[in-house]
Amino acid sequence: MFRFDLQHECDGARRGVFHTPRGDVQTPGFMPVGTVGTVKGLTIDQVAATGADMILGNTYHLRLRPGHETVARLGGLHKMCGWDGPILTDSGGFQVFSLGALNRVTEHAATFRSHLDGAKIELTPEHSIEIQQALGSDVAMVLDHVIALPASATEVEDALARSIRWAKRCRDVADRPEQALFAIVQGGLDPVLRRQCATELASMPFEGYAVGGLSVGETPEEMYATAAITTEYLPPEKPRYLMGVGTPRDLLENIARGIDLFDCVMPTRNGRNALAFTDEGPIKLRNAVHREDTRPVMEDCVCLACRHSRGYLRHLFNANEMLGPILLSHHNLMYYGRLMREARAAIEAGQFSEFATMKLRGWGFEPMSVSANGVH
Ligand SMILES: [Zn+2]
Repeated sequence: MFRFDLQHECDGARRGVFHTPRGDVQTPGFMPVGTVGTVKGLTIDQVAATGADMILGNTYHLRLRPGHETVARLGGLHKMCGWDGPILTDSGGFQVFSLGALNRVTEHAATFRSHLDGAKIELTPEHSIEIQQALGSDVAMVLDHVIALPASATEVEDALARSIRWAKRCRDVADRPEQALFAIVQGGLDPVLRRQCATELASMPFEGYAVGGLSVGETPEEMYATAAITTEYLPPEKPRYLMGVGTPRDLLENIARGIDLFDCVMPTRNGRNALAFTDEGPIKLRNAVHREDTRPVMEDCVCLACRHSRGYLRHLFNANEMLGPILLSHHNLMYYGRLMREARAAIEAGQFSEFATMKLRGWGFEPMSVSANGVH
């Protein structure tokens, strides 16, 4: 029921289509994050208008509130939030990691205390799949053991070995043909461990592979190098998803390293904080320089925010009006959606490197530090 068609390759980048029972996902693609069953601030029609094919829901948050059983009784995550297309749910591993001192990981489970009421919850690989089945997502993720970087070699190896064992336990209970299961490659910044983890997971039957454990404090260059070494050992006929990444620059740099799918809260979180992404780099709309600026954020943008002047948007944020965060969240997701469409067209035209260089220069970065598959 799930199939990935790799249609073009150019300068290390891949153009493909991930077919799911609820519709096709064009890649490279960006998934807006709907943490608790809503992409913050936007209606589902506004999310669809950004060109997103698949959105993301967070298992940890939905498990706590309203509860996965309640979501199921409300008809599942699609019906509840009104999204007909594919939905990917994470496994909860990253959120448990984010809780820091509130969590404890053993071979059996990650045990954590709810950030809402302090209740103790045990998240086993099996329970993570059970929750994702109740939510009814189209793509489920295996539970992985995420650790903070930098970490000692022993800690990284221990988390990696556990992540592989947990991936097997997830595969054993994820038995619904209409729900794909993606494995997550761990291994910190160590190329040997990344290769080992990617190779082991690639030998198991997953519908897709994620690069996990990044965007946790490493430099952009470390992230890009790790993505490159990981994708080299993943099967080319399966989609690759880089979790929790990133800036517009991160997207293009990682597309050049063979990544197909991304998700990140950055467009909406930054939008709520008055920061708008543009081809000239981010604009901070609270700044006084925009006070009487009659121009839109971007001239050729068709989002809801760009019908208005920068001066009006600044006023909305200064007056703490809820419309400000709504409009800029829409602009930023439209910007990410357009960036992905342009990247796909550039790959099809055999000009990805030229396209990425032009964008990176506009944002104030040097052209891509590497080109084509020679990066490895
Ligand atoms: Zn706009």
